[in-house]
Amino acid sequence: GRINVAIDGPAGAGKSTVARRVAEQLGYIYIDTGAMYRAVALAANRAGVLPSDADRLAELVKTVDITLEPGADGQIVRLGGENITTDIRSREVTLKVSEIASHEAVRLRLVEMQRKLAEAKGVVMDGRDIGTHVLPGAEVKVFLVASVQVRALRRYQELSEGELVPLEQLEQEIADRDRSDESREFSPLVRAKDAEVLDSTELTIDQVVAHILDLCRT
Ligand code: C5P
Repeated sequence: GRINVAIDGPAGAGKSTVARRVAEQLGYIYIDTGAMYRAVALAANRAGVLPSDADRLAELVKTVDITLEPGADGQIVRLGGENITTDIRSREVTLKVSEIASHEAVRLRLVEMQRKLAEAKGVVMDGRDIGTHVLPGAEVKVFLVASVQVRALRRYQELSEGELVPLEQLEQEIADRDRSDESREFSPLVRAKDAEVLDSTELTIDQVVAHILDLCRT
């Protein structure tokens, strides 16, 4: 029968690439929950709502219309029908998303959506709190980690030309985002007790994918 797979870990550990491939191999749906928090961050930014404004963010998430759909190059994210797949990867969104994701009202709304998406099983979901909070019953749980240097380097290689920033600065920003995600009050980033820890620092994507597929088949 179909199962659910939860892949959590810090920023840039390779979760989305790996999760997408695992889903492809299993014929499952891939759900990038980080993209949902990013969509809220973009919506807030456009509406002029500050990341610290709990009340206005609570209002905003009530009406925000986020949809995820599978596309040829991965998941397409829409906000009120508009394709925002590229927009949510901007540095501006990246720098604000963690504070926005720290608000309880934001998390309650998105977690509700995420649980609905996983109801029928057969999903690979990546995020920070999937194994601990969103899908505690997931049959396979992975906590994917990597050194901060490798994670910053991977992000550096993904930057577009207009966005070039020094590698050291990216390292700092990733470390800051980790700290913020780990220290928030509501479902912080933490390894689920029953999650398998996988360190991708010295592994290829193929090796990580193969290992997770093994876990799914046993
Ligand atoms: O995975 P990604 O780096 O795109 O996630 C962006 C941000 O969204 C994270 O830094 C975190 O603050 C938030 N997030 C979260 N819970 C999740 C997924 C993402 O709080 N399940």
